[in-house]
Amino acid sequence: MARLNGHYQQLRTEYIFPIIDKKLEELRKQYPDSDIINLGVGDIALPLAPSIIQAICNALQEMGNEGKIHGYGPCEGYLFLREAIAKNEYAAHGIDPEEIFISDGINTDVANIQEIFSLNSWIGVPDPTYPVYRDSNIMAGRAKKIVPLPCAAETGFLPVPPSQHCDLIYLCSPNNPTGVAMNKKQLAAWITYARQEKAVIIYDNAYAAFIRSPDVPYSIYEIEGAKEVAIEMRSFSKNAGFTGLRCSYTVLPREIQGRIGRKKTPLHSLWIRRQNTKYNGVAYPIQRGAEAVYSEEGKRETKAQVDSYLSQGRKLREGLTQLGQVHFGGIDSPYIWWKTPNGKSSWEFFDLLLEKCHMLLIPGRGFGPRGEGYMRLSTFTTNEKVAAALQRVEKIL
Ligand code: PLP
Repeated sequence: MARLNGHYQQLRTEYIFPIIDKKLEELRKQYPDSDIINLGVGDIALPLAPSIIQAICNALQEMGNEGKIHGYGPCEGYLFLREAIAKNEYAAHGIDPEEIFISDGINTDVANIQEIFSLNSWIGVPDPTYPVYRDSNIMAGRAKKIVPLPCAAETGFLPVPPSQHCDLIYLCSPNNPTGVAMNKKQLAAWITYARQEKAVIIYDNAYAAFIRSPDVPYSIYEIEGAKEVAIEMRSFSKNAGFTGLRCSYTVLPREIQGRIGRKKTPLHSLWIRRQNTKYNGVAYPIQRGAEAVYSEEGKRETKAQVDSYLSQGRKLREGLTQLGQVHFGGIDSPYIWWKTPNGKSSWEFFDLLLEKCHMLLIPGRGFGPRGEGYMRLSTFTTNEKVAAALQRVEKIL
């Protein structure tokens, strides 16, 4: 019999989403006509913007034209999109298009990037966390090499540099699940740490488009020295509704170095090698759709969508405050971190909301032990649902 990767057995057995799905299914069976409000999933609630649809349709039409065949594209992404990103997102930071790698989602790159690091690396992972950082390292065999970075109330629900050495650190800001974002000073402390420890930071900036506070950097490269130690990942998923289309990018500056034995090696060359071997790129029409995000209409339409999610967030935050609830985040992010009332555990409050309010939120415990006692509330929703949700919650508090 084939021998399997035993590291998978070290993954947490309590993977929350199947449990949530089961509970939801039971509720649906019991109340088939109930209008369940889902403020759990971090998926978009608005349709794709017209300018993006148009660009994708045009690209598809073009592919039906004999003179314009688009077969396999470059695995790093088409230059037109890499250039558009460099110009529109990174002009101030001197990032050139060849330092930008197009991918089919941050999820893919954030799970794969660990492959170019030694298995002996110490890995700093926030707790609570977006689970992929932790699980991809466990699958690779680093279960014992994970250094938890607490994101609890004492540190404002964000990780701070540890006293221990890490080689690779995952940071997510604006943070999923806690919904708070790092300011310049907090991020600068991480850059100082990474330079001292000769570590590399993977900066998951999936929610950059939601940043509105002036002291929250839009890119990690706003911090001096970041180009030597930080890889930034951004996605079109949440700013432009690409969760079902799949397109993102990883910025890997040439300055970042690691070592193989004693030999200093740029990560950039290893990542190109890895991608050339294992990846065949994102579909041409999807990359044209992503390019359209930077057209005048694209910018206007996608900003309006993000503003709408932020406005639902503001209403939810105000509503919760009026109900005397303690909550964090949601200002530069589509997530609100709600402290469960009356000392209830995350799962107890989850069950109460589901059974009595027919509302679905994600128990903070599912993102790590330090998520216990909190719920993640997503603001990817509409006006009507926010109003209905607050009315239902009021009845059980
Ligand atoms: N990173 C974070 C922090 C996320 O919350 C998500 C999705 O919810 C992703 C990455 C995945 O992004 P993508 O759709 O680009 O794979």
